[in-house]
Amino acid sequence: MSSKTRVIIVGSKGRMGEALLRLAKADPALELVGGVDRDDDLNTFVDRCDVLIEFAHHSVTPTLLDLAVARGKSLVIGTTGHTADERAKIQAAALKVPIVFAPNYSVGVNVLFYLTQLAAETLGGAFDEEVIEMHHHHKLDAPSGTARRLGEILAQAAGGTYEELVRHGRAGDVGARPRKEIGMHALRGGDVVGDHTVVFAAPGERIELTHKAASRDTFATGALRAAAWLRAQKPGLYSMQDVLGLGKK
Ligand code: NAD
Repeated sequence: MSSKTRVIIVGSKGRMGEALLRLAKADPALELVGGVDRDDDLNTFVDRCDVLIEFAHHSVTPTLLDLAVARGKSLVIGTTGHTADERAKIQAAALKVPIVFAPNYSVGVNVLFYLTQLAAETLGGAFDEEVIEMHHHHKLDAPSGTARRLGEILAQAAGGTYEELVRHGRAGDVGARPRKEIGMHALRGGDVVGDHTVVFAAPGERIELTHKAASRDTFATGALRAAAWLRAQKPGLYSMQDVLGLGKK
């Protein structure tokens, strides 16, 4: 077995794919086997890799999961916007192969997840909570996977689920804000790589936790770190917080 983790990038011609190819080539812990995009046949060389790294489109993930399970390959999933069925399929595949599935591979955002949970638990429902995200105008899904995860963390701390508590935007005669509602707002424009803010607002004071990504390299570096880490793991579904050894939040 090679000392380097052999990786294939799925979605290699995309914005993230370009960063992953460039950084994987320069990473001494990795051997870049190659990249595939739409119309390429992954079947012909999938056996030459240890880990598949996917940043493509959510509709690609189910086929990739079948291939990973059939060939015994580990998977780093960076793609966002999955349906409930696709998420269930990721969980089922993780019983058979190791998978890291993270809405955001940056170290800073994973600290934001941690701080958001801490703030939500400490403030104990006394503050109104809103999530605001902004991304470039090419982004296909909304809200971002990261904003969704922030919503899940806030909902869980309030004793509910994302589906029960999150409200997407407001328009018209909406009435006063319900106590436990979690507002979710997606802004799109320009070349913004990814901004996320969690607002905790009470009468007389407000806390805002903000993370701003200025380069896709921050996500790509984290995903490559996850790939090298994943090679030594047993089948299971892992988060970036597992990779970083942060407390599970
Ligand atoms: P992009 O549109 O620039 O690139 C996607 C690429 O996937 C394209 O080149 C497209 O041709 C390719 N693709 C589509 N169908 C394919 C198929 N069947 N097989 C192989 N390739 C296929 O998008 P992007 O900005 O690079 O983002 C890709 C995904 O990664 C999105 O879901 C985005 O939200 C997500 N993302 C996640 C993180 C994170 O940290 N988890 C960070 C940034 C982006």
